Amino acid sequence: MIALVTGAGTGIGKAIALKLGESGYDVAVHYNSSSQGADEICEQIRKKGQRAISVKADLSDTSSIAGMFDRVEEELGALDLLVNNAGITKTAPFLETDENLFDLIYKVDVKAAYFASQCACKQMVKHGKKGSIIAISSNHSKAHFANVSVYGTMKAALNKMMEHIAIEMAKYGIRANTIAPGWVDTGASRLDEKETTYYKIPLKKWATVEEIADTVIFLASDSAASITGATLTVDNGASLMCDKGEKYGF
Ligand code: NAD
Repeated sequence: MIALVTGAGTGIGKAIALKLGESGYDVAVHYNSSSQGADEICEQIRKKGQRAISVKADLSDTSSIAGMFDRVEEELGALDLLVNNAGITKTAPFLETDENLFDLIYKVDVKAAYFASQCACKQMVKHGKKGSIIAISSNHSKAHFANVSVYGTMKAALNKMMEHIAIEMAKYGIRANTIAPGWVDTGASRLDEKETTYYKIPLKKWATVEEIADTVIFLASDSAASITGATLTVDNGASLMCDKGEKYGF
């Protein structure tokens, strides 16, 4: 089984790539600028006995996407799984949002995920693989937190896009699903903020990166053979609640 994970040199993507390697996948570990994290993950995956390559591409430039898929096919073989994980998590109040922020989040979170999914599905169809595409969205795609009008809009578009892919690719046996995490503990720098968010998280904790990776493993597996076009929310119940009025400015 062969997988490509975008944005896999850091955070959630890193945990997904590692867990896929531990689960018997050969993994293409995509990164954008620094290869260090991706190379480390490749090394760890190789130690588990699987093949791994790091692949560089700036996903804000659509022209870099097809070449990345060609390289993965040449070096590892045709994909069984694409995880669209790369994303830009930048916030700004609606009145202060500029076109650059809008375009950047659109290009990486939506446009790149669209054309990467298309490349992956073309490969799967060409090789008769009944594979799977998974997108890492956010609970911001349905709940309305403050100052995330662009991020929330783009993640909602991503959810819808995956539903369209699910219905058009069903005839090939290819499934497409979305994971919508809430707060995820990706590293020490955010640990201090944790407890200040608990008032709006019913289970009063953040998810671990391993839990998001476990959800990917499940959705890609035969245990999820009847699941397509679904969005699985992994947010400790946060999207069931609303925030305090002052957070929205009233
Ligand atoms: P992160 O910043 O560690 O990961 C984002 C990845 O996207 C990075 O590896 C980065 O290199 C890549 N990326 C950004 N711009 C790129 C570009 N132009 N070209 C190629 N790659 C690019 O953050 P993370 O928290 O691990 O986020 C991973 C995904 O999970 C994102 O889609 C994010 O929206 C989503 N998410 C995160 C959380 C959270 O609490 N951390 C919650 C919900 C959803």
